[in-house]
Amino acid sequence: MSTEKIKYTAKIYALQNAVMFDGKANPKSVIGKVIGVLRKDGFSPKEIIPIVNSVVADVNKMPLDQQVADLEKLAPEILIKEKKVRDFSLPDLPDAEKGKVVTRFPPEPNGYLHIGHAKASIVDYEYAKIYDGKFILRFDDTNPENAQTEFYDVQKEDLQWLGISWDEEYCTSNNLQKHYKLAEQLIQQGDAYICNCTSDVIKEGRFHGKECKCRVCSSGEHLDSWHEMISSSKDGCVLRLKGDMTCDNTAMRDPTLFRVIEKTHPLQGDKYGVWPTYDFAGAIEDSISGVTHPFRTKEYELRDECYFYILDKLKLRKPILMEFARLNIDGMPVSKRKIKPLIDNGSVTGYDDIRLPTLRGLKKRGILPEAIRQFVFSQGISKVESTVTFGLVESANRKLVDSVTRRYFFVKNPVKLIVVNAPCIKKTINLHPINRDLGSRTIKTGNTFFVQQEDIDKLDIGDIFRLKDLFNVKITGKGKEVKAEYAGDELIARSAKIQWTTDDYIDMNVFVPHLLFKNENFNPDSLEKISGFAEKAVTDIKADELVQFERFGFVRLETQKGKITGFFAHK
Ligand SMILES: [Zn+2]
Repeated sequence: MSTEKIKYTAKIYALQNAVMFDGKANPKSVIGKVIGVLRKDGFSPKEIIPIVNSVVADVNKMPLDQQVADLEKLAPEILIKEKKVRDFSLPDLPDAEKGKVVTRFPPEPNGYLHIGHAKASIVDYEYAKIYDGKFILRFDDTNPENAQTEFYDVQKEDLQWLGISWDEEYCTSNNLQKHYKLAEQLIQQGDAYICNCTSDVIKEGRFHGKECKCRVCSSGEHLDSWHEMISSSKDGCVLRLKGDMTCDNTAMRDPTLFRVIEKTHPLQGDKYGVWPTYDFAGAIEDSISGVTHPFRTKEYELRDECYFYILDKLKLRKPILMEFARLNIDGMPVSKRKIKPLIDNGSVTGYDDIRLPTLRGLKKRGILPEAIRQFVFSQGISKVESTVTFGLVESANRKLVDSVTRRYFFVKNPVKLIVVNAPCIKKTINLHPINRDLGSRTIKTGNTFFVQQEDIDKLDIGDIFRLKDLFNVKITGKGKEVKAEYAGDELIARSAKIQWTTDDYIDMNVFVPHLLFKNENFNPDSLEKISGFAEKAVTDIKADELVQFERFGFVRLETQKGKITGFFAHK
């Protein structure tokens, strides 16, 4: 018996070590691990070492995929941890030197972070870590119409929940004086000009590749107009880059660099009325803050030319721009334009609604940050745009939670079951079939139970089924209530095993999310409410615990006003 335990433990750690190091386990590391684990059980190194050596030798003879398969069977939670290391296959960054890589995540503080932000921030953060570099959190808050005080903190909380930390944090709006100086330099050099054409005229000119009348004035005149624009903050003119109005890349047709926005800024108040556009602010900030490898999504590709042109003209250092495809999840749009109206009209409860791919929505339905991380890595950083199903996030989450989540009984559409001669017992049932650390609960049973109507519908009078983990019963009558009799304890092959509650139950609702959008339209059936009875033991859960309701799915439980509500994560 004791040798078996050593062998079993040795096998797990030998497989783990082998999977980590390309199929070859190092006996010394495995011995160390096994001694550490088994010491408390009174095993001596003298007993352990020869067994580990022989197990390691056997494991090292196996091909790697067999090792992975065996580890998955023996200890799936360990395999997932190892995979995290193994799947770390982010491609090398071009011209990257250890210790010198600087990345940044630049959210606009205008809303809750969603899964697309998660991808960007995780990639930026991980690259900085891989290269022992620096990771900057920069709030790109140069549009006072969008920036909102509350979201600076909200976004930081969302990132912290994801497990992301940063070495430096700042707000672009604090650098506005620097931006003004650089704008002035561009004007003096004749590389930017004040344009007071209407937006329609500007649009027309861009469309037809025609320069406007403002472009020809001297740089001195433009400088005067610039100073006037800043001091008066009067709308009616913009600062434009002198690009090339006939360029095939329309982004180069004299893009706007600064415009007047007459709105109080959450941090700067009314100090400034002239604000840089993303084209200008993004390029300047990446350069002056020392970012070496800024990532952006592919839709900015056409603007790259402008990015480098501005830096060129200002003789500023040019980072290596990196691009990846945007993350699209089928039926779960991330754009505020689509989500906000649904919140405003009450179709969606808020930004933490479980149908949304916001980090708060995902958290609420019990998706772990680690699952999001693994999902992001599984998608890689290719430039090829694709739409994936949310099932990928669910499957990453399921692998993480399955072996560590307590299991309970929940009966939807309950129907009363009377078992006439049922023994009255106190039955202790484990909360997980394998993981004993998750404990057990003791249920006192009499002759009244509740089971699911759907299960009963599939059975006939005379059929025997098993109340899961309890005993067998034989149906004797079906009607408003189901009548049955006790039919022994022994497991019967192929008989249905059905979850149940006693008459000491908790009445609760579980909300199940479905696709929020179908064919680009809001799906009015996207939130399903399932009512049912849960066994009393769920009242012992920790706040916000994810549990598995057997034969139903993973559900995050939340206590609101003394009542337990469930949010469905996945099957
Ligand atoms: Zn003009």
